[in-house]
Amino acid sequence: MAEKFQNFIAGKWCEADSGERFENRNPANWDEVIGTFPKSGKSDVERAVKSARAAFRKWSLTPAPVRGEIMKRAGDLMVERKEEIAQLMTREMGKVIDETRGDTQEGIDTAFYAFGEGRRLFGHSVPSELPNKTQWSYRRPIGVAGIITPWNFPMAIPTWKIFPAILSGNTVVFKPASDTPATATKFIELLLEAGVPEDVLNIVHGGGSSVGTAIVEHPDIDLISFTGSSQVGRIINSKAGAGLKRVSLEMGGKNAQLVMNDANLELALDGVLWGAFGTTGQRCTATSRLIVQEDVHDEFVEMVIERAKQLKLGDGLDESVDVGPVINEGAREKIHKYVQIGQEEGATLKLGGNIADDGDLAKGWFYQPTIFSDVTPEMRIAKEEIFGPVLSILKVKDLQEGIEVMNNVEYGLSSSVYTQDINAAFEGIRDIDCGITYINGPTIGAECHMPFGGCKSTGNGHREGGWEVYEFYTETKTIYVDHSGRLQRAQIDNR
Ligand code: NAD
Repeated sequence: MAEKFQNFIAGKWCEADSGERFENRNPANWDEVIGTFPKSGKSDVERAVKSARAAFRKWSLTPAPVRGEIMKRAGDLMVERKEEIAQLMTREMGKVIDETRGDTQEGIDTAFYAFGEGRRLFGHSVPSELPNKTQWSYRRPIGVAGIITPWNFPMAIPTWKIFPAILSGNTVVFKPASDTPATATKFIELLLEAGVPEDVLNIVHGGGSSVGTAIVEHPDIDLISFTGSSQVGRIINSKAGAGLKRVSLEMGGKNAQLVMNDANLELALDGVLWGAFGTTGQRCTATSRLIVQEDVHDEFVEMVIERAKQLKLGDGLDESVDVGPVINEGAREKIHKYVQIGQEEGATLKLGGNIADDGDLAKGWFYQPTIFSDVTPEMRIAKEEIFGPVLSILKVKDLQEGIEVMNNVEYGLSSSVYTQDINAAFEGIRDIDCGITYINGPTIGAECHMPFGGCKSTGNGHREGGWEVYEFYTETKTIYVDHSGRLQRAQIDNR
C-alpha cells in the first residue's frame, strides 16, 4: 500500500482541512504509487502562518550558534540516510541514482555551511566621523518565510532555502512541488529529529494556485523565496510586491556552451553530454544550446551525436542508466511539441525526436535524447526553455558572434566557454550576461558555498548559496552609540 504522508502544521502531523488527498507516482513506472498527500488550501496555510508567527520571537532569540548546532545534527542525519533519501528521490522524480546522491550531498554541504554561519552572520563595525561615538551594523531575522520550491532538486533546493532561513532565526511555511512531496517531507522529519522546535517549521502540501497563492498573498508572511518557472515567478512577484514582501526569485534558463576552434574537443564533449542530458535536461542550468565555432563545427557535431547515441535510458535506480524519464506527462508533451516546432522552423533533427517507449520504458515518461543542428538564433528552440533532453546546435564565426548569440535570450543563468585562449576566456567572463560562467567546464556544477542565481528573466537580483543568501534572510540594523555626553550633530559639528 502506498505510504500516507501528512502536512506538518502548528507542531502536529495532520490532514488537510479539505480531507482530500493527491497521489504521486514514479515517472519511470507509473504503476508505482510513491504516496498520497493532503490536498491543502487557504485555511491550512492560515493555521501554518499563525503558528510560525507565534514561534518567531522565541526562535529569533535563540543564539545563532545554538541554531547552528541543530543544522549540524541535521547534516549528520542526512549523511547517515544519504542512500535512503537518494533512492526515494529517484523513485519520486526519476533522475539517476548518482545524481540524487549528489542532490542529497548538496543538502549535507548546505547544512554544514549553515552550522558555520551560526558563528558568523557578520555585521560591520565602521569608524564614526565624530569623537566618542561607536557604530556598527548587525543582521536580524525578519519573521515568517514562505518557501516555494520546484521538483527538479527536491532536496538541494529546499535545503538552500530552509537552512539559511532558520539559521538566521526566521520561521518557515514550506510548500514543495506536488511532484516531489515525499522527499520534502523526509527533509522536514529529519529537521525535527535534529531538534528544530516543532512550531518553527510547517510543511503544507498542495497545488501552486491554492497553497502557493495563499502563501504569497498572506499578509503575515514577510518574505517569499521561490524557485521555479519565470512565468510563475512573475505572478508571485506582482502579488508579493503589492504586499511589500521581500521576494527572492530563481527562475528559468536557456544556457549555452560555447566551443571555440582551439578547444580541447574531448573535454568539451564530456561537458556537453553531462550538461545537456544530465537530469534528462531538466536542470535550470542544463545546456540547452551548443554554440560551435565554424572550423570545428561539423567534426564536433558528429562527435556529440556519436556519444549521445550511446546514452542508456531507463529507471534511474539501475546504476548503468545514463538518462531517466522526464517528470510527468505534461512535461513530455511540451518537449515533443518543441521538437515539432524545431522541425517546422527548419532545424535539422540529427538524433532522437520522439517518445521512447520500447520494452521497460513503456510505463514511464521517457523521451529520446534529441539533437538539432542548423539552428539559428531567432528560432524558438534557440530561445525558449524546453526543460528536457533536447540540444540545439548553432554555428558561429568567432568569439564575438558566439557571445552575441549566447546573450540573445531572455534568460541569464549559466554559461560555459571551452577554449585554450586565456584572453578569449576572460572576454567571455566579462561579456556574457549570466549569473554564472564556467571556463572549460559544463554549464552545471554549482557548489553550495558560492552565490547561485541569474540575471534578466532568470532572477530578481538575489542569490542562493554561500554568504549572499544570508543577506536575503536577514535585515540590517544600524546602531550608533554616542558616549561623548553631549549632543553631537553629524555633518555639522565636525565641520
Ligand atoms: P513551476 O513554476 O511550475 O512551479 C514551481 C513551484 O511554484 C511549485 O511548487 C508550484 O506548485 C508553485 N506554483 C505554481 N503556481 C504558483 C502560483 N500561482 N503561486 C505560487 N506558487 C505557485 O516550476 P517547476 O515546473 O516546478 O520547475 C521547473 C522550473 O523551475 C524551470 O523553469 C526551471 O528552470 C526552474 N528552476 C530554476 C532554478 C534556479 O535556481 N534558477 C532551479 C531549479 C528550477
